[in-house]
Amino acid sequence: MSWVTWNSVGALLGLALAGCGAPSPSILLVTLDTVRRDHVGAYGAESGLTPSLDALAAEGLVHDAAYTTMPTTAPAHLSLFTGLYPSEHGVRRNGDPLPSPVASRFASQELALRLRTRGYTTAAFVTSRLMSSRATGLRGFEIYDAPTGVLRTGEAAARAALAWLRSERGRPVFLFVHLYDAHAPYGSADEKRRSFPVEASAYGWIDDGVRYATESERGAMAARYARGVRSADAALGRLIAGAREILKAPPLVIALSDHGETLAERLADRGYAYDHGEFLDLETVAIPLILAGPGVEAGRSRGAASIRDLYTTLLAAAGIEDPEAQASDRRDLRRRSAVRRLVGIERRSFGLRIREPVRAHGAAASDGTRLLILADDGSLTSSTGESGSGNAGGAAADLVATAQGRLHRTGRASAPLDPETREALHELGYAE
Ligand SMILES: [Zn+2]
Repeated sequence: MSWVTWNSVGALLGLALAGCGAPSPSILLVTLDTVRRDHVGAYGAESGLTPSLDALAAEGLVHDAAYTTMPTTAPAHLSLFTGLYPSEHGVRRNGDPLPSPVASRFASQELALRLRTRGYTTAAFVTSRLMSSRATGLRGFEIYDAPTGVLRTGEAAARAALAWLRSERGRPVFLFVHLYDAHAPYGSADEKRRSFPVEASAYGWIDDGVRYATESERGAMAARYARGVRSADAALGRLIAGAREILKAPPLVIALSDHGETLAERLADRGYAYDHGEFLDLETVAIPLILAGPGVEAGRSRGAASIRDLYTTLLAAAGIEDPEAQASDRRDLRRRSAVRRLVGIERRSFGLRIREPVRAHGAAASDGTRLLILADDGSLTSSTGESGSGNAGGAAADLVATAQGRLHRTGRASAPLDPETREALHELGYAE
């Protein structure tokens, strides 16, 4: 046998040995769009809307202080898939795909692409046209299944995803499913269907202050929202049960929301209700985030967590090193942590139509114990009630600096949206 052949054998052996660590688990990643943390039983809710999330929490790891990077669907998801803040990946509103200079700069970083190089089969099943590959610009998924209309139910997406999973054999899979059930238009699948075209004023800005003036109107909206949360959780349950039955080895399961929702709390002072994205209040930026399966340390984690940490988490689960994790301050969320740590939150890029003297929110930061909100005029508010201006009213200087750092990263000019995305936004009731 020649040296060349021996070298080839050696190389093959090396490759085989390199792959001899713990086998990479299949990954089921599910985002429950617009589900508020305080509506989840595992976080103290008593309404019983989320039995699937609660069962996952009972066996896995619950992050008590998890936050989105921006309370807007596409920018938040793209933080998950790139590990970057919106000001870094460049998408600061729905409908803008990952910009091509940034997309090429970070081509090797996109999560699904990196998992593919590790032998994963990758598939995405989404429920809103705003999350289609055209709208997000994500290129890493081999299968990218989006609704042909504007929306589909979580149940329909779960069915399609499980049918695909049954046909997949051998390789570990990275299956991402996006569930839009809790998002406006609120309600059951039937109520959602009957809501089109969505009347923008029914959810976002209330100019006359008359709508939702009564307790019963607000109660009806809250009940419709709750029905959507229940549907999303049911689809999650179906996905978890189906994936565990189909896959040979137990998968790593991760369930979270991309942001929360305001439910009339801000109506009186801002004339703003039933939406997310314009402001950085606790109810829109705090997210439920639960992991279970191989490699997960069960229990509760109090340290601050960001949706963008999931990038490092999923790479680690697949046995891929994230060399930028430390410099980018991302951590593996499969482990519990009580270490004090700061996470930032950014606002989206388009203008606010706000009542005077309401202050626009520029950025926010959390250390895991409180949320500090920085307004454009420099005033600060804390989610625990303290507020002040200038010197932050006693807030820790590093918390203020983190919020200021996020604020200074904003300001990228926005190109016009493509016509199809603009149409989808209008059908969904976005008033932009
Ligand atoms: Zn969303």
